[in-house]
Amino acid sequence: MCNKLIAYIFAPMQLLDGKATAAHIKEQIKKDTAEHIANGGKQPHLAAIIVGNNPASEAYVGSKIRTCEELGFGSTLLRFEESITEDELLAEIRTLNDNADVDGILVQLPLPKHISDDSVINTIDPGKDVDGFHPVSQGKMLLGQKSYLPATPYGMLLMLEHYKIDTTGMHCVVIGRSNIVGTPMTVLMSRNANPGNATVTICHSRTKNLKEICLQADIIVAAIGRPKFVTEDMVKDGAIILDVGINRIDDATRKSGTRLVGDVDFDNVKDKCNFITPVPGGVGLMTICGLMMNTLEAAKQHS
Ligand code: NDP
Repeated sequence: MCNKLIAYIFAPMQLLDGKATAAHIKEQIKKDTAEHIANGGKQPHLAAIIVGNNPASEAYVGSKIRTCEELGFGSTLLRFEESITEDELLAEIRTLNDNADVDGILVQLPLPKHISDDSVINTIDPGKDVDGFHPVSQGKMLLGQKSYLPATPYGMLLMLEHYKIDTTGMHCVVIGRSNIVGTPMTVLMSRNANPGNATVTICHSRTKNLKEICLQADIIVAAIGRPKFVTEDMVKDGAIILDVGINRIDDATRKSGTRLVGDVDFDNVKDKCNFITPVPGGVGLMTICGLMMNTLEAAKQHS
């Protein structure tokens, strides 16, 4: 076993703190933005679209718009009724594509059932695809070309980088194969880069022996959408855990009657790990950093 892995196994648990890491990265983005504008570049401008009034979507979009203000970006929030047709929404996206002042476009998912996510994503100008969901962005990422990386996997890479975790040669098990989290994360962790250079296994609902596979993991990325799915008996000593899940569960001790938990049984798993992200306060905050990094990059491309 290489020395790096031995060192990880005997190190005490460290929280991968999304709040502190995001604050550090946002400070850097703010500085870069001011410098870019001072050098004659255009102010980054993010346009966000929200359809309907899903409270979780409202919270996510609100926080993205607030972050734009914090970083010195311009922002536009477009709200549409749940009844908007797909054609009408696509027309709004095309208007943003044609607006030279807009650098980045994000459409908050999930969308109402009568609107196709794929049609919406495919309509966004790839040059403004700061969520990194467009086939052009994902195709370039797959080929190792410069592209807008999907915001959540990008945020996780920023987190690993910030904590100087060298993932070379590690076995990374990604649970979940969505186009926006699980699948791109497997691509990024297996690329010839650091973070990356890992041996990657992708798991999903049809995977057999999930527990045995997870027990071999140096890194587990949990992107399932099931509260506390990854339990203590699935994690080997010294593992690194990135918990993407955001699940609301009942909690009678809270005023609201609910609380957020991840896809990992944090309280019982944490002492086995060398590094673990909490929920809330982990990957979610890093996703916004990924989005903002992409938006600044888009503004640089458009200047
Ligand atoms: P999806 O629902 O699109 O994908 C979930 C994946 O989990 C699927 O690939 C599914 O497999 C797999 N899965 C479901 N059940 C099991 C099981 N029993 N065993 C193994 N795999 C299983 O979710 P997302 O990727 O969009 O999101 C995942 C979680 O992350 C959610 O909680 C979401 O809210 C959260 N999220 C958080 C973000 C953040 O910024 N922190 C950003 C985006 C999402 P199959 O393909 O076979 O159905």
